[in-house]
Amino acid sequence: MSVRSMTRKEFAAAAEKMTRRGRWANRLWLTIFFVILFGNLVVVRLIPENYAITYLVGFFVFLIANIIFTMRIAKNRSRRAGVICSKCKSTFSKTGLELAIATGNCSSCSEKFLDD
Ligand SMILES: [Zn+2]
Repeated sequence: MSVRSMTRKEFAAAAEKMTRRGRWANRLWLTIFFVILFGNLVVVRLIPENYAITYLVGFFVFLIANIIFTMRIAKNRSRRAGVICSKCKSTFSKTGLELAIATGNCSSCSEKFLDD
């Protein structure tokens, strides 16, 4: 990656491209996730009562792992697309991204990292 900082326009274009690329993967994962979630309703009825707690704990572990996994993927995607702060290397939330495009400032370290 170049040392020169991006302009707000270039940054917005990179962010847009990243979002467009990630959209299908997100939809696919969301579909799988809901199939698992609804499948779970069926599975729950078939589970013997003495395994219910174990199953419930396992399911919560799955849900939490899913959140961590999804967040990690989003961060990696941002890094690969160069949609990070060049000063503190942090990635952005949706709001942080909009703020960066609008002002050129990072929502994490509040430094100006984009040229106008
Ligand atoms: Zn920063």
